[in-house]
Amino acid sequence: AAAVVLERVTKVYPGGVRALDEVSLTVEREAFVAVVGPSGAGKSTLMQCAAGLDVPTSGRVFVDGVEIGGLDEVWRTEVRRQRVGFVFQAYNLVPSLSVVENITLPLRLAGRVPDRAWLRTLVERVGLAGRLGYRPGELSGGEQQRAAIARALVTRPAVVFADEPTAALDLRTAQDVLGLLRDLVGEFGQTLVMVTHDPAAAARADLALVLADGRIVDAVESPTAVGLAQ
Ligand code: ADP
Ligand code: ADP
Repeated sequence: AAAVVLERVTKVYPGGVRALDEVSLTVEREAFVAVVGPSGAGKSTLMQCAAGLDVPTSGRVFVDGVEIGGLDEVWRTEVRRQRVGFVFQAYNLVPSLSVVENITLPLRLAGRVPDRAWLRTLVERVGLAGRLGYRPGELSGGEQQRAAIARALVTRPAVVFADEPTAALDLRTAQDVLGLLRDLVGEFGQTLVMVTHDPAAAARADLALVLADGRIVDAVESPTAVGLAQ
């Protein structure tokens, strides 16, 4: 099965805004796909529906071969916990929990016990082995996002969704964090779907889907920052 399939997905918000208009797309396994387009184009809505965080008004969504879009809330949560990881712009770490507690939270929510060897590998790869007892507020922005990346990967999900993951970081840190995310997802054989308004970030993807007014208006293979900025 493909990593993500959307079939004619429409999302109309209460009040009548049509954020997605019959969007169909397939993301192949182990691909890195960027979703770009102007503010209000529907990028976040697309990610929310594809990741099972929100439900389309009509159409179907499949993640890793399993239908996620039309399922009831309890089952959708279950599918999400097993197959999907998330990285957000604002890190979304729990301030009262330590770094290691944040990283292992999705496992514990899924009723699973962290494997020590896997956890050590992961925290070393994100460079946080020396920060495990810190609270998020004691970390730099880059470190917080690296903790959030480890949290997204800890369940070994098939698909990782990232919504503007580098937008809150300075240029250099953003490049490092995105490079790390891309490398790890590649190493672990996962699929990465990233929403961004940054052409330089999108240029690191294999494919850029250009969204405008709730529709995919272009699909650019091996995108370049200059090409996307035009
Ligand atoms: P993007 O991520 O590309 O900026 P969004 O998916 O956030 O676009 O928004 C697409 C459209 O849907 C916009 O017109 C936005 O105002 C609207 N929208 C987004 N979220 C909601 C919501 N929860 N309720 C109503 N309208 C919304
Ligand atoms: P609850 O049932 O306790 O409300 P949720 O399913 O809403 O739990 O998840 C709580 C938090 O954990 C949310 O911020 C959600 O985005 C995050 N989360 C849930 N599943 C995962 C996952 N597989 N990977 C990363 N974060 C997750």
